[in-house]
Amino acid sequence: MDTVTASPAPESAALTAVVNTDAIAANTALVAERAGTGVIAVVKADGYGHGAVPAARAALAGGAAELGVAHVPEALGLRAAGIDAHITSWLHTPVTDFGAAIAGDVDLALSSPRQLAAVVAAAHEQGVTATISLKVDTGLGRSGIGADEWDETARAVAAAQAEGAVRLRAMMCHLAFGDEPENPLNSLQAQRLDEASADLVRLGVRPELMHLANSPSALTRPDLARDLVRPGIALYGYSPIVGRDFGLTPAMTLAARVALVKKVPAGQGISYSHTWTAPADTTIAVVPAGYADGVPRLLSGRMQVHINGRRFPNVGRICMDQLVVDLGRDGGGVREGDLAVLFGPPSPQATEPVPSATDWAEEIGTIDYEIVSGVGGRARRVYVGTAGRSAGDRDD
Ligand SMILES: *Cc1c(COP(=O)(O)O)cnc(C)c1O
Repeated sequence: MDTVTASPAPESAALTAVVNTDAIAANTALVAERAGTGVIAVVKADGYGHGAVPAARAALAGGAAELGVAHVPEALGLRAAGIDAHITSWLHTPVTDFGAAIAGDVDLALSSPRQLAAVVAAAHEQGVTATISLKVDTGLGRSGIGADEWDETARAVAAAQAEGAVRLRAMMCHLAFGDEPENPLNSLQAQRLDEASADLVRLGVRPELMHLANSPSALTRPDLARDLVRPGIALYGYSPIVGRDFGLTPAMTLAARVALVKKVPAGQGISYSHTWTAPADTTIAVVPAGYADGVPRLLSGRMQVHINGRRFPNVGRICMDQLVVDLGRDGGGVREGDLAVLFGPPSPQATEPVPSATDWAEEIGTIDYEIVSGVGGRARRVYVGTAGRSAGDRDD
């Protein structure tokens, strides 16, 4: 972990997202242990901004049994990288290429009889059996087979399985209140999923597996874990329940090289619209990270940057490419090229705490999921740690 703050950035990169794969592996093991089941590591949205392939490899090294993504192309991207673990993909549209998914051995979790019909047609075309899961809307009110289409879908699955077009592997649903462990809807959703499975058994189809728990549920409700749990955010090291510490380690450090240090006189307005004016002579630093890279503009004047063990406040508007910090009259010893950590895991050796993605999220009323998955733009990903990596691996 200390290597992250010691040397996170190649000399040539202005902005880096340093991802510690050992943290992802350790977080995976921790979630599996608490849930008492196997883990489907969710690596959608490019591994929540950490890089889907390295995140998947790290989670598998940490003991994940399978992988989960939203879209078929995300699953095929993992296959193209040589990952042969079981992959479930659960968000489709009428233009989804189910044929490619079947050819790539992707488990298709389906939300409607129309999706099932399309998969059956694609399976017929290839003369193979497609592996499917059923995503049931047990109360989330989003994706998943709706109550009014359940009977029709169940009968169609039974028919399709009987003729060898599909093999039903898993029953899944997604919780509306996973982050409120005691909310009664959690147990009710599990019960509805059990009932849907029982309906299928009556039709002669026995689902092999069941999974419904996301990160918060996997960490707090082992009674809902069933056969597998499906965590995402916890694998990347963020607590899925506000205010609760599960001992997870954030995997990402977002850091930039200070681009410019200069003095400004009292009365100088800073950045667009001069929303901040220097009250006295001071020194500022320009940090090459902006909203195009995932630093929310809403954080303007509400975030701090960690340089050489100290925190300095952002002043003025955060722009597309850059933000400004106030170093104080004496410049705080900061020099051009020094590393400015925007957020990262706690660093015990630092005199002042490193800001976290969770701090950012709380400041602007969102969740750390949105912060980390929004990191991109020109941030160059760099990997540290050994989990899931081999000597020849390059950063992306
Ligand atoms: C994103 C997602 C998950 C993971 O949720 P976390 O809260 O990040 O653990 C699990 N299941 C489904 C269906 C999802 O869309």
